[in-house]
Amino acid sequence: MGCFDTVLIDCPNCGEEYEAQSKGGECTLSYYTLENCPMDVLEDVNRHAPFTCDNCKTKFKVEFKTKIIRQIETSVVEIEKGIIYKEDKGGNKGG
Ligand SMILES: [Zn+2]
Repeated sequence: MGCFDTVLIDCPNCGEEYEAQSKGGECTLSYYTLENCPMDVLEDVNRHAPFTCDNCKTKFKVEFKTKIIRQIETSVVEIEKGIIYKEDKGGNKGG
């Protein structure tokens, strides 16, 4: 059985809706748009790219950038404020 999910993508040229198939997710024959598409489905959406618009024959693909926020281990911490400069002024002269 070839199961897949479908992501509806508007043609960047004419806006015609294109149905791109993805096997990246749970493959429940769901329909998504780029707005509500789960990340795992989206990661596989270009499997048949470039897509060719049925209307205007424009070739296109889906571009997305993942934003990963996480904590990493480090021993170097840069603190830019609160630096105290110590200057020796008027110390003991003579003595
Ligand atoms: Zn088009």
